[in-house]
Amino acid sequence: MQFIDRAEIEVEAGKGGDGIVAFRREKYVPAGGPAGGNGGKGGSVILKAVNNLQTLLDFRYARLFKADNGQRGGPNNRTGAMGKDIIIEVPCGTVIYDLETDEILGDLIENGQILCVAQGGKGGLGNKYFLSNQNRAPEYALPGLEGEHRNLRLELKLLAEVGIIGLPNAGKSTLISSLSSARPKIADYPFTTLIPNLGVVRKPTGDGTVFADIPGLIEGAHEGIGLGHEFLRHIERTRLLLHLVDITSDDPIKDYQVIQQELKAYGRGLSDRPQILAFNKIDAADQETLELMIKELQKLSDSPIFTISAVTRTGLDELLQTVWKMLDEAEVL
Ligand code: GDP
Ligand code: MG
Repeated sequence: MQFIDRAEIEVEAGKGGDGIVAFRREKYVPAGGPAGGNGGKGGSVILKAVNNLQTLLDFRYARLFKADNGQRGGPNNRTGAMGKDIIIEVPCGTVIYDLETDEILGDLIENGQILCVAQGGKGGLGNKYFLSNQNRAPEYALPGLEGEHRNLRLELKLLAEVGIIGLPNAGKSTLISSLSSARPKIADYPFTTLIPNLGVVRKPTGDGTVFADIPGLIEGAHEGIGLGHEFLRHIERTRLLLHLVDITSDDPIKDYQVIQQELKAYGRGLSDRPQILAFNKIDAADQETLELMIKELQKLSDSPIFTISAVTRTGLDELLQTVWKMLDEAEVL
């Protein structure tokens, strides 16, 4: 199973500056020769892979990227200024497709790697260039060429860093919707209608982190029941688990234990993954129950415990702060 982030952007390189027709006009020089300068090259659009981005979130807002045009040539053989290139930062691992032809233009893997996706147009030649024995005073120059223009599709394989676990109905999907600024697509999922629900949550530093709601984690999932296996394999790669417990359930503590047992039974270090625990639906619970449950849960776990409502968004800011903090501290897998 693969999570893919996609974005479509339009890139337009700058037009080359026009060459000009001009003649030298110096005192005491009777017939000044041609001196029209060439136009400057248009700016190009360049993609650059950087380490500090993990998602294509920013391209949801900025879609058109246009580099500057080159300047016209000047008199006295002056070449026009070049248009400035623009450099667009993308996460490492971004694959770039031409949207129309579906051709892969490049694959930016390493930090700092660049790819020119639209070449700036060449500047036109000034009349100076056309000076010859046959024509001592050419009266023509060439216009600058158009810059390349392309529509691109960017694709990035995503790694979900935070897995949201909990029994069905705990509020996982609701929480993802409340938190996320974007919903990436899932590329190819197996024969099931159970699709992990993904959300990209924007960090205070700007870039996003992928949260995956894992719907398959139910009792027996480690035995392959409930199609949970595929999903479990995916959360193996998450760095932090957010364990939701429905405070309005008949026995929230039992619910918590069921999930913990599932993680243990699955093995592969999943139960050692750092966890944040959260009682959800506190808008529908009384304070007394809440306090009692927190006490009971503290007896079973050292993980931080939060009380939230995915619906009214109570407590979500505090929860996220701890998510960011623990992600910073968690070992990179
Ligand atoms: P999931 O199975 O874990 O994905 O749970 P859902 O997100 O589908 O939520 C299950 C039900 O609980 C839905 O009817 C939600 O509207 C409800 N729910 C989720 N979060 C809250 C909450 O914070 N408060 C209340 N009152 N209901 C909630
Ligand atoms: Mg759900």
